[in-house]
Amino acid sequence: MTRWVLGDALTRRHIREGERVLMVEAHGFARRKPYHPHKLTLVFSAMRHFRDELREDGHEVDYYRCETFGEGLDAHFDARPEDTLTLMEPASTDTDRLRELVESRGGSLEVAETALFLCDDELWSDYADDRDPPYRHEEFYRSMRRETGYLMENGDPVGGEWNYDEENREFPGEAYDPPDPPRYEPDALTEEVESWVREEFSGSYEENGGDWAAPETFIWPVTREQALDALDRFCEDRLAEFGPYQDAMLDREWALNHSLLSSSLNLGLLHPDEVVETVIDAAAEQDAPLNSVEGFVRQVIGWREFTRRVYAETDGLADANQLDQTEPLPELFWTGETDMACLSDVIDGVRKRGYSHHIERLMILSNFALIYGVDPGELNEWFHAGYVDAYHWVTTPNVVEMGSFGAGVFATKPYAASANYVNKMSDYCSGCPYYHTKASGEGSCPFNALYWDFLARNEEKLRSNHRMGLVYSHLDDKRGEKLDAIRERAAEVRTMAEDGTL
Ligand code: SF4
Repeated sequence: MTRWVLGDALTRRHIREGERVLMVEAHGFARRKPYHPHKLTLVFSAMRHFRDELREDGHEVDYYRCETFGEGLDAHFDARPEDTLTLMEPASTDTDRLRELVESRGGSLEVAETALFLCDDELWSDYADDRDPPYRHEEFYRSMRRETGYLMENGDPVGGEWNYDEENREFPGEAYDPPDPPRYEPDALTEEVESWVREEFSGSYEENGGDWAAPETFIWPVTREQALDALDRFCEDRLAEFGPYQDAMLDREWALNHSLLSSSLNLGLLHPDEVVETVIDAAAEQDAPLNSVEGFVRQVIGWREFTRRVYAETDGLADANQLDQTEPLPELFWTGETDMACLSDVIDGVRKRGYSHHIERLMILSNFALIYGVDPGELNEWFHAGYVDAYHWVTTPNVVEMGSFGAGVFATKPYAASANYVNKMSDYCSGCPYYHTKASGEGSCPFNALYWDFLARNEEKLRSNHRMGLVYSHLDDKRGEKLDAIRERAAEVRTMAEDGTL
């Protein structure tokens, strides 16, 4: 019997002492999309570090570098005919497809429960209880709090409330100076992987219509030791102020107080239970504000678990497009070349390091694509290729459903917003050549015209949504010449985006 370890499941929790391990570094998938070089470097370097650590600890590790899983399995079963492989249940990959690959080579596959998520089948059915979508995150989160006991006291939420989001929408001011984020400089192995990635996969950019030119030095944790250090650094440096400023956006401050742990969690270098327990203990020691701790716990045991389950439970979510949006993704998402200060800074961060925080993802990038009319599938592919923490189970619910209102499987309304929101939650507008207060005419902010145009365009589908009543009454106030001028500006914005002059 051999333990088969996939590249996004680098945990020791399911590997028994002395057990033989199979790892297949398949390169074909990396050629099929224009992946950010830091994403490929992260996955391949973390896999090779994990292999080396296992070998140091006495495990036999068969590590194949090849084009496809199939080739790796051919090599494995040539050496060990009829072997049984044990695999931890993958979050994104179809288990039936993997079973077919194994069985067609004369082997068998056993699938073990995942150690990388807390919501098992039983917990999910406790929540879902045969209910049809729409699923509700807040209810799911409360059931997870009850089941895990995190931040609970005598059956009630600590502090008396389940959710302190109201306290987590502060803006720190332009002069705010957050702590420096940790950086894990590449060691010799990561440097070797990084230069191999550049040589091997740069051709796929042209073929796949995108390019992540000139990223900064690679900074992400590639080992469990580094990931644990990142967790400690978050607890020590940024936890206390994480909550109040978690929705804020500051020009040139890409990390603020965010934990930066998602790439490690999604690779298996950290486990959600240890992360949450460490944070809760650290908060108690430091007397950190409850809204900071609760906000973080909700991201991990609430949102992260919820998206993975919704992904697993919803057929066809990746292709959902209930608003029939068909615009191609503007080129500026790849180049970052736009005068729009908010988009330019956030895309610049993705190009440099394959990351931006959740509000930038939802309220700048996805919001712009939504009101512009971008096909949700195209936007999803961009996020999937560009972010170091992105896997199908993460991006599909977040981008297609939450960001693009693709299916209504849990989102109750589209997350569409005008420049008003951006101006309230960021310092971008004060340094932008566009006027955030203008909705039409030269120099008016593209977010404004696109926002009202989006509402007008989708009126038939959205007007009856009870959460949209107020915004449609505002749209009614603009009908006539005002709305005509706004829609003319929206068309102009699209032309400018196509011409590369936005
Ligand atoms: Fe973004 Fe518009 Fe503000 Fe410029 S004015 S930063 S484009 S929201």
